[in-house]
Amino acid sequence: MQLKTILNRVQKFKSFVYGNVRWEEIDGETVLLVEVFPRLNSRPICSGCERPGSGYDTAPEARRFEFVPLWGIAVFFVYRMRRVNCAGCGVKVEAVPWAQGKQTLTQAYMQFLANWARRLSWKEVAEVFHASWGKVFRSVEWIVDWGLANRNLSGVRAIGVDELLWRKGHQYVTVVYQIDPHSKRLLWVGKDRTLATLYRFFREFGEERTKQLQFICSDMWKAYLHVIAKKASQALHVLDRFHIASHMNKAIDQVRAQEARDLKAKGFQPILKHSRWCLLKRPENRTEKQNIKLADLVRYNLKTVRSFLLKEDFQFFWDYVSPHWAGRFLDSWCFQTMRSKIEPMKKVARMLRAHRQLLLNWFRAKKQISAGVVEGFNNKAKLTTRKAYGFRTFRAAEVALYHTLGALPEPESTHRFW
Ligand SMILES: [Zn+2]
Repeated sequence: MQLKTILNRVQKFKSFVYGNVRWEEIDGETVLLVEVFPRLNSRPICSGCERPGSGYDTAPEARRFEFVPLWGIAVFFVYRMRRVNCAGCGVKVEAVPWAQGKQTLTQAYMQFLANWARRLSWKEVAEVFHASWGKVFRSVEWIVDWGLANRNLSGVRAIGVDELLWRKGHQYVTVVYQIDPHSKRLLWVGKDRTLATLYRFFREFGEERTKQLQFICSDMWKAYLHVIAKKASQALHVLDRFHIASHMNKAIDQVRAQEARDLKAKGFQPILKHSRWCLLKRPENRTEKQNIKLADLVRYNLKTVRSFLLKEDFQFFWDYVSPHWAGRFLDSWCFQTMRSKIEPMKKVARMLRAHRQLLLNWFRAKKQISAGVVEGFNNKAKLTTRKAYGFRTFRAAEVALYHTLGALPEPESTHRFW
């Protein structure tokens, strides 16, 4: 069987035919070159308007397009580009079905690399397929851009706004997720977490779609609250449970660190040592050892323990059904916490009091937005940005997030190479 036969099976073009296949040495590596020719009497397609025109001339030099490797051997298409005399656009280079514009990688190869990049880190994909990191990045970027241009944004009713540290040194991105029961995906990524960032989202999302939003879930971050109130006041704004838990955990962390220092200064044995995780973990995630440590801690009347108990107590808030009774609970919890004399916890109580209305919106939206979705996305997004992708630029982080969480459509292909 000839290689041409296989190629015609996996990647057949209507107006082009495969010619000879030959070996060649490139940079000390033996590769396969596959000649491609236009079919006889086929008219070139104008790259400006995608319409057929009459041929103008043919480039003297052939261009190379990297295709999916075969048995560990790099494969290139070799083709002399024609120019089209287009009635509408003038003289233009022709469009070819295997690559766009100035790309040197075929779409099949880019789709191949991009799909592997969902399972492995970009660095690993580059290593396994002897491609450069840049090639992997360009492939993922291309498929993400294609997906963004071809996705359907209708029917978005509920969104969640979150922030994410994508690089050390307080480099944040704002991410917006669709959190409808029928569709959960990353919708948007923007640099920073300022007023301007979220305004940009609403501008790009468009007024028409924004008007149709019914629920918006977010943190108590001031910039977000402000923009949401201004841009989508018709939507029910809900404060996210996961964000409130993380504020409490931060407070407990502060109390614990301070108290540990105080105890040490007073010469007490380090009872708080190794206590961090048993205080922050959810009951169902604690190990036996952490439970024992916790039981041990409770014997001391420490601020840390009292903060922890306040946090545990607050969990009951979420079990309420009626906003009225949830409100009563919230008030009594805040009252108790304000009397605790534990400053970081008092700060949380003040914050919750200030956002009482938004907190109670949770009970008005109950069962209509899926709880825990934002948290789930947050974990996956962190994994994406932390994994050894070697991000140096915001663009790379943005592309990776869309690629892994955007549920983007992909161009159809007749053969799956991966
Ligand atoms: Zn044209």
